[in-house]
Amino acid sequence: MANYYIWTIGCQMNKAESERLGSYLEQLGYQATATAEAADLVVLNSCVVRQHAENRVINKLNALKSLKGLHPNLTLAVTGCLVNSEVDHLSKNFPHVDYFFKPGDYPQWLEKPKSGQVLPQHPSPSTFVPIIQGCDNFCSYCIVPYRRGRERSRPVEEIVSEVKQLVHRGVKEVTLLGQNVDSYGHDLPDKPDLADLLYELNALDGLARIRFLTNHPKDMSSKLIEAIAKLDKVCEQISLPVQSGDDDILKAMGRGYTVEHYRQLITEIRSKIPGVALSTDVIVGFPSESDQQFQQTVSLLSELRFDTVHVAAYSPRPGTIAAREYENNIPPAEKRERLNKIEQLQERIAGEINAQLLGKAVEVLVEGRKGDKWQGRTRSGKLVFFNSNSDCLGQIVKILIEKTSPWALQGKAKILASIK
Ligand code: SF4
Repeated sequence: MANYYIWTIGCQMNKAESERLGSYLEQLGYQATATAEAADLVVLNSCVVRQHAENRVINKLNALKSLKGLHPNLTLAVTGCLVNSEVDHLSKNFPHVDYFFKPGDYPQWLEKPKSGQVLPQHPSPSTFVPIIQGCDNFCSYCIVPYRRGRERSRPVEEIVSEVKQLVHRGVKEVTLLGQNVDSYGHDLPDKPDLADLLYELNALDGLARIRFLTNHPKDMSSKLIEAIAKLDKVCEQISLPVQSGDDDILKAMGRGYTVEHYRQLITEIRSKIPGVALSTDVIVGFPSESDQQFQQTVSLLSELRFDTVHVAAYSPRPGTIAAREYENNIPPAEKRERLNKIEQLQERIAGEINAQLLGKAVEVLVEGRKGDKWQGRTRSGKLVFFNSNSDCLGQIVKILIEKTSPWALQGKAKILASIK
């Protein structure tokens, strides 16, 4: 029997695609192995959304070159956002790679599994489900639309049937994935939207929780906000990248909204969904971002107080509008300083928000173990650790929070029997 190993870096979409690719290979008789050294087929699922990720991919590819030298029968394949339409160019740069295939595709050189089944056989209680591929937005800094192509939504019936099968295999929570989930359905015949899909999924027996990523501030509708507020299985957690707190920078980024629009959206979300947890993404050091413009971002984050902020330093991606049209003129040291400032601010804010949960009981879906503790998440997405000798995997348990930090909560089990 042949062994496979998948190395994955990048976003949740890559993780979901690797999970499905693994299942596809298992249908063909391959068996998962823990190391590349023990594998007959190694697939590298790449990310090039930032220079740092691309560097890691290149380092990994170079490391695999020597492995290929030692095991000439090893098949090496690369997928993910490194793979562009110029495969010839890639093959020239990486001659030790046998196959390149586009993100979200399956290995064309292998026969297809008879069942066509790509769902994980033994999924985690919390599993990702891609609902829309690609992106039509072309934000000026972003490589994703060039690598993942235009938006393609999966039909509602296909997603519902897939989630039913996942529930049958023990899944309690699904996270619906898309580069922009608010665009979901516009390319389908009946033009359903994300809210329509949430209503369908909310009706499924056995499914306890529904989440989704990522929203776009220019596209998120009041209809969706109302659906989140109304549907009991849809979790109170929204990921809404703001990217900058300055209108001129937002314009140069091609984001299609203003700071005021974003602020109003947050006000609407918070007024309709009590207790909602909000996360955002920020890029610092975008070309020509002045000190004052950066301060606008800091002020916005202080004002809106997110549960989580993902901050990244701008890095030009060849082929994007920003890389072509703007000079990458903020020195690396300045970018790092801005990034640190935001991280420090957010550490304080998240610490204060999480401290409010001290002494409270929260519902946790248990996803697995870390060391000697169980770990899971609250409906609002907070990571919780607790001790128990019982088998809690896949259960929703009540945990009394005894310790908090900006990153996680610790507590003890109040009711160990599954409450759902
Ligand atoms: S919305 Fe913008 S940042 Fe997000 S994937 Fe599309 S182009 Fe990239």
